[in-house]
Amino acid sequence: MSNENGSGRQVALVTGGMRGIGFGICQSLAGMGFDIVTCGRRSSDEVSGVKLELEAHGHEVVYLQADLREDKTLLHLAGTIRDQFGRLDVLINNAGIAPPDRRDVLDATLPGFQEVMSVNCTAPHFLIQHAAPLMIEQRRRSPECTCCIVNITSVSAAVASVDRAEYCISKAALSMASMIWAVRLGEYGIPVYEIRPGITATDMTAGVRSKYDERIAQGLLVQPRWGMPEDVGRAVAALVRGDFSYSSGQIINVDGGLTLKIL
Ligand code: NAP
Repeated sequence: MSNENGSGRQVALVTGGMRGIGFGICQSLAGMGFDIVTCGRRSSDEVSGVKLELEAHGHEVVYLQADLREDKTLLHLAGTIRDQFGRLDVLINNAGIAPPDRRDVLDATLPGFQEVMSVNCTAPHFLIQHAAPLMIEQRRRSPECTCCIVNITSVSAAVASVDRAEYCISKAALSMASMIWAVRLGEYGIPVYEIRPGITATDMTAGVRSKYDERIAQGLLVQPRWGMPEDVGRAVAALVRGDFSYSSGQIINVDGGLTLKIL
């Protein structure tokens, strides 16, 4: 099955793909030969250098400045993919935010909660609703096409931090959304997975670098190092390649053993 652009290459939509974990995922997928559509809050000029790095793999990279909190953005992303490529093989819901300020749950605010929920949970849930019909249609036309969806949640989906409750709740909710979509899309042969990264070196964790350096040195992790974006990129590659094709709905922890129970 070929692209609207005639290339025949597979197409991946990765939200927040121009930095951090999203960029690690895009590098993996570009290395596997995918055309990439990605988005973020920054302007095209601000991401042009990073985009060039991805384009060096020789495939098409489309960047849209888009705020995922807006419903029209989600429709625009799906519409762009339909018009420009005519196919969607992979959706990676990666974009996410930490709480605007860390506050004890007793002092946390409703606007802060709504902001985090809207980027981390509402947007990925409804992006799947808008993107899944493209995959369903594609698999009807060409049943040999493999498609999959991956939601990037966090160890925080299952580990309570009282100074960023809204983040933990948003990731736990997205974890349930992953399960719901895995069940709903099963009949179409579209697996849905969840990846839970642990403490990963990105801009999101830049402000807590020394705190976690210390905790890692004190034995917080079984594998005593920071997670890197490429650790998640490699896990995504295995899922997209079909190495876990009989495991829809499963959770992959990429956390250096942070969540292992140890006696
Ligand atoms: P990051 O470096 O802060 O990157 C976040 C990405 O999301 C950026 O590309 C950003 O766009 C995009 N984004 C944020 N809000 C957006 C919005 N409203 N509309 C469109 N795009 C938006 O974070 P990261 O550490 O790579 O995190 C990636 C994912 O992994 C997140 O879901 C995060 O919760 C999860 N995670 C991270 C860690 C960690 O330790 N870093 C651990 C577990 C899970 P711009 O580039 O334009 O700003």
